[in-house]
Amino acid sequence: MIVMKFGGSSVDSPNKIKTIEEIVRRELARKPIIVVSALRGVTSELHELARTSYQGTYPSTGYVALRHYELIRNLGLDLSISPEISELGDCLKTRNLPHLQYIDQVMSLGERISIKIVAAYLRSKGLNAQAFNSYDLGLVTNSNFSSAEFLPESLPAINSSISSLDCIPIITGFIAKDKKGNITTLGRNKSDYSAAIFARAIEAEELQIWTDVNGILTANPEIVPSARTIANLSYAEAKELAFFGAKVLHPNAIEPAEERNIPIRVLNTLDRNNPGSTISIKSPRNGVKGITSKSNVIIVNNRSGSMIDSHGHLADTFNSFSKYGKSVDAVATSNITISGTVYDWQKLEEIIKEISQRGKVTLYQGLCQICVVGDGIDETPGIQGRVFGTLPDIIVKMISQAADSSNITFLVDADHEHEVVRRLHREFIENYPI
Ligand code: ASP
Ligand code: MG
Repeated sequence: MIVMKFGGSSVDSPNKIKTIEEIVRRELARKPIIVVSALRGVTSELHELARTSYQGTYPSTGYVALRHYELIRNLGLDLSISPEISELGDCLKTRNLPHLQYIDQVMSLGERISIKIVAAYLRSKGLNAQAFNSYDLGLVTNSNFSSAEFLPESLPAINSSISSLDCIPIITGFIAKDKKGNITTLGRNKSDYSAAIFARAIEAEELQIWTDVNGILTANPEIVPSARTIANLSYAEAKELAFFGAKVLHPNAIEPAEERNIPIRVLNTLDRNNPGSTISIKSPRNGVKGITSKSNVIIVNNRSGSMIDSHGHLADTFNSFSKYGKSVDAVATSNITISGTVYDWQKLEEIIKEISQRGKVTLYQGLCQICVVGDGIDETPGIQGRVFGTLPDIIVKMISQAADSSNITFLVDADHEHEVVRRLHREFIENYPI
């Protein structure tokens, strides 16, 4: 069995849904389980409707209804989605749920409608497809609305419900239910994660993520026009690369597949014979595979004499971040300084107030975080010399590389982002096979 996930950009036009039918047909012998997202833009639109209605206005459901009805008509389907559209209207009128739960309930309609369209089209072409809500096949989460975590008991439940099916299931990504039966969502862009949970549950032979680019690229093509597809990469490399490029593959989707050594293929619905990227336990070649970057990064720097010969200082500092639910990404320390990177201001003032009691806090803003990623980095002599040798004229603000890491991370002024990524791409990737 394989799991095939089609994202919002793969279901948003009649031609793409027709392509899905051809792609699925090629894989019939491997018993495909299909997971789909809402049409591109629909989840954001639903989120906006929920947000405005929560402020007391009653927004129109017209645009959402129209987009789906148009697609249904252009596919020549005889399908009613009026129960879902009426539910949306009722929801927006009554607003009788707590805020985040309400948003999840409204957003869930995107996937609940898209599965019906995809299943109806495949059926119209003679395939035995049926639409299912993930929660009716056993996916249960906690009640952390808008970023719910799946409960382990989902895995055997999904396995047994899928094995009793005698059809091609078309399943909602992104949404689930908690134990009380309330609709939850796993978090934005997390249909990939749903697909990975299904793949893990049924121990699929492969997880295919169908999107609108040819796999994972060596760099952002807007920065490096010559960026290429990475044909093979390890789970570790994919996690490091996906962290800043969540659009192609959500980083959370890798773990469940990795737990059972399920290969993940990232493929392009618009170029369906392109082999894309394959992520598996080991990539056939060590060395730098990709360069990622993220701008608008802030360094929180805490300088204190008390770190010398003391203990607990790091723990105290990070406890303050943890207390406010804020994650710190790259970290570097010296004898008297701890630096950590964060990506926004949320809760930062409260945290700074707290850690200021243990040292002098300085913030550095307007920075860009660059990652040079590839297995074997930790065992390659001179690689750091090559990385920083390309930047003789650029100030590097902070550097971090863990002991067994596939990632050298450092920060430079955001103005240098494109230049640095291009130089590193030239140095490590342009003239090498990947
Ligand atoms: N439809 C959801 C979103 O837009 C989930 C996904 O597309 O992965 O966030
Ligand atoms: Mg996606």
